[in-house]
Amino acid sequence: MKAYRIRQEINGIEEPPGKTWFFELQAGVIDAGRCIQCGTCVAACPSNSIGVDEDTDLPELVKMCTGCSLCWDFCPRGGLRYEALWPPSTIMPGATADEVAASSVERVDASDTYWKITGGPPGDGLGAVTEAYSVRAGARADGAQDGGVVSALLIAALAAGDIDGAVVTRPSDDPEEPWKGVSHLATTAKEITDAAGSYYNQTMALAELDLSRYDLPAKPKIAVVGTPCEIQGIRAMQARRWPSGAHRIDAVVLTIALLCTKSFDYRGLMLDLLQKDRGIDIDRVSKVDVIRGKMIVEYRDGELAVDEPIKNFHGAALKGCDECADFLGRSADLSIGSVGAIDGWSSVLVRTERGHRALDNARGRLDFRELDSPEALVKLDAFDKRVAFDSLRRPFDPDAPLFIDYAEHVATYEGTDRAPVVADR
Ligand SMILES: Cc1cc2nc3c(=O)[nH]c(=O)nc-3n(C[C@H](O)[C@H](O)[C@H](O)COP(=O)(O)OP(=O)(O)OC[C@H]3O[C@@H](n4cnc5c(N)ncnc54)[C@H](O)[C@@H]3O)c2cc1C
Ligand code: SF4
Ligand code: SF4
Repeated sequence: MKAYRIRQEINGIEEPPGKTWFFELQAGVIDAGRCIQCGTCVAACPSNSIGVDEDTDLPELVKMCTGCSLCWDFCPRGGLRYEALWPPSTIMPGATADEVAASSVERVDASDTYWKITGGPPGDGLGAVTEAYSVRAGARADGAQDGGVVSALLIAALAAGDIDGAVVTRPSDDPEEPWKGVSHLATTAKEITDAAGSYYNQTMALAELDLSRYDLPAKPKIAVVGTPCEIQGIRAMQARRWPSGAHRIDAVVLTIALLCTKSFDYRGLMLDLLQKDRGIDIDRVSKVDVIRGKMIVEYRDGELAVDEPIKNFHGAALKGCDECADFLGRSADLSIGSVGAIDGWSSVLVRTERGHRALDNARGRLDFRELDSPEALVKLDAFDKRVAFDSLRRPFDPDAPLFIDYAEHVATYEGTDRAPVVADR
């Protein structure tokens, strides 16, 4: 078979069945431009063989690959069927007949457990939801994106001793990378506050779960704030036990998904489309927002620097986001976003007992109102799923190789300063 021929060409060893190598992930996802930089492959690798390329922010092989296939199995753009992790939808307590009729909070029937990206029941509400509100923090962290709820919840969980730290996204301190979000484990309220706000780039967040460089208790308890694809990776790895490497998936006790339809390549968006093409002074930027179909950029003095249709920025969007059908972060403990709530508030969907406890801890710091527009969430979720479905309906090419050709793979690196990933095996 072709996959085994590749291995034979490398070193002549007869291959046992059932092996999948990093370079197959590289060819099918990373080099194909489909990687959404979630970091799941880094966290899943039991031999810590996958790192993050400093120039591209993409996964790279840093030592020997054993062909264990876990990077492929858990990759949301590889072997992971993430929708199988979604708990069935529920009727929210207190839903009115009108809301159910508007399919905003409906439990269709048991079949919605089987929703799958390649086809399934069309409507399944907001997923498993026990409570839903619009929420705002009494004292919003400076730079908070919407209601400042995510930061307030994390600070309260830290104060209650429910977590020892939280994986958040803070601004890079490299002057060459203004307004780039980088993943960081915050262990104090100040670090959480300093990381408030949204960065429209992916951070390989799950790579940060190698906690060895932090001073933490022997059994640390960690929250992760992430885009839905990052939470999918955590949930999948927690659901299936295997001899894991340095990354402490077991330490994650709280997951907060940010509602998400799209993320961007940092250089493409911030440096090319905003700084270079539109002359935006990135050092003066106080907020970047993708909202109501527009890209909004504000300066610190209140000046509106950009107010344009989001389609003008699609060239910098991650291609792998088109395939994603999880706008609502259905596998998380809490899903939080701006859609569905009025300006200055966040929409909050509580999905689990852990999520409920996190919200309860922070009650004294938060203002609540009824979720303003569950319909807006349902509508955007349906649109997101349609885009994902369409992106998977490319015509099937029977001549396309199922596995990559080793010689072709190596040839793609000719003339670049990067090495083929199989070189050290
Ligand atoms: C790439 C991206 C796309 C989004 N798309 C939508 C959308 O389509 N619709 C919608 O309703 N909401 C979207 N959001 C969520 C929204 O922007 C806010 O994050 C959310 O409303 C919470 O606001 P807040 O004021 O409660 O949180 P804050 O108190 O401001 O806290 C935000 C938290 O998110 C973390 N964070 C920031 N950037 C990232 C990142 N790139 N990856 C992981 N964590 C990060 C911060 O470190 C902080 O802990 C998106 C967010 C991101 C990062
Ligand atoms: S999508 Fe995530 S798991 Fe897949 S290759 Fe990219 S970083 Fe790794
Ligand atoms: S659109 Fe989906 S794949 Fe892209 S960053 Fe958001 S959650 Fe991840």
